[in-house]
Amino acid sequence: MRDSPLKTVLYWCPECNIPLMGRKCACGAKAIEISLLKPYDIRPALEYDRNLLIKLLSERFGIDEIPEIVLFNKTGGTDRNDLIIINGERFGWLSFDPYNRKFSIELTQGALPYILPKIKTGIVDITEYIRETGRKRLGGKNIPFNSELNDGFVVIKAGKRWGVGNLNNGKLKIKTLGVIEEKEFKNPDQDEVIKKNKRHLKNLERNAIRLIRSYMDEDTPVNVSFSGGKDSTVVLELAHRAGVEDVYHVDTGMEFPETVDFVRETGIKKILKGADFWREVRTHDLPRKDDRWCCEKLKLQPVKEWLKNKGRCVTVQGNRWYESFSRLNLPAASKNPYNSKQLNLSPIRNWRAFEVFLYIWWRELPYNPLYDKGFERVGCWNCPAMLESEAERNLELHPELFGKWQNHLKRWARQNKLQEDYVRCGLWRWKELPPKMKELARAHNIKLKESPPKQIRRSLQ
Ligand code: SF4
Ligand SMILES: [Zn+2]
Repeated sequence: MRDSPLKTVLYWCPECNIPLMGRKCACGAKAIEISLLKPYDIRPALEYDRNLLIKLLSERFGIDEIPEIVLFNKTGGTDRNDLIIINGERFGWLSFDPYNRKFSIELTQGALPYILPKIKTGIVDITEYIRETGRKRLGGKNIPFNSELNDGFVVIKAGKRWGVGNLNNGKLKIKTLGVIEEKEFKNPDQDEVIKKNKRHLKNLERNAIRLIRSYMDEDTPVNVSFSGGKDSTVVLELAHRAGVEDVYHVDTGMEFPETVDFVRETGIKKILKGADFWREVRTHDLPRKDDRWCCEKLKLQPVKEWLKNKGRCVTVQGNRWYESFSRLNLPAASKNPYNSKQLNLSPIRNWRAFEVFLYIWWRELPYNPLYDKGFERVGCWNCPAMLESEAERNLELHPELFGKWQNHLKRWARQNKLQEDYVRCGLWRWKELPPKMKELARAHNIKLKESPPKQIRRSLQ
């Protein structure tokens, strides 16, 4: 059973203009609450994401800056679909279209006080239209409108009111319209956010260390499972502070070069290796989000082998409730269902990615550079759980490596009489496509498979 409910809101200090972990800021001000969307995980925008936001805002609105602190709330969609939180407001949406392989940004009414003093283009003025037609209630309406701007998201001016909407094929969809109050925004940095959240960070650290220590006795050795991701980076630090020295990393053979280098830099000696992916993929079908046989073969099996002679152990791991539905009820300690000799301990199960990065910043921990390159999650470079926005980055960063996987997928598509678009849009990642992906396929005339696809029987290396 879960021992604490999920946080479904983000606290924000209106005085300091910073996100908070608790209801009260260290400055004494009471926090405002921002409702979050499922699965309620929030994380800071890092280097690539910040540059991407600036690029999109600059292309459409001529705005070439964003505040130091920008947060994302990951939500569902056909691919990456992040709610952007800036200045304590739901600021907009950053999404990736897996068909046309492009990012887009849409803003909310809440973004206007920040962007109006900076905006240079991307504005549609309907003041004249209102005067001529006498129409007043326009929120949520479609009106005929010719503009020199390309179709897409726009900011709308209507006399003294401002709003947001979309231009599409000679029509303007007005989403919201209202009077905007001018505001000054403080622009605090990471250090300020840490400072104002330090009491909570210390509490989180203390509780996590206490939990790890409570499982350290002379009979059962305690180790850390280090994947190279942000969560295990934090867990490694906490375990070290608790006094745990034993660390292992499972190299799936399909790790990103950045992860391999990062693990090497941490100095971890115990590297476990499992089955060869390319050999396994001959006898299994592709690894899928709904059929992750690779986890068992590449990750779980080598640990089981290792512990066969070693005996029982307690393993500190970085799993969190907010990561996925399946981890929602993760208790502090649970027997590994795949390996009865291993008791998994999850000291950061109640942390969000926000707390994870705050801790990394506070303790100045080096972290996997992939997070600064546009990856929200770090796994194998051919992982079906990867977003298509990440696959696109993968292709830019590692064309040879990812090209090899792409060739494999294309060949699989041919053997199963599927169009290349089936692979190009990432539909291969499911055995049973979810409704949103079926819809995407229908919208672009991509034929869906009728029966379970055949396996590829020979090596494609
Ligand atoms: S990270 Fe992805 S590809 Fe790698 S073992 Fe896990 S599910 Fe499979
Ligand atoms: Zn404050």
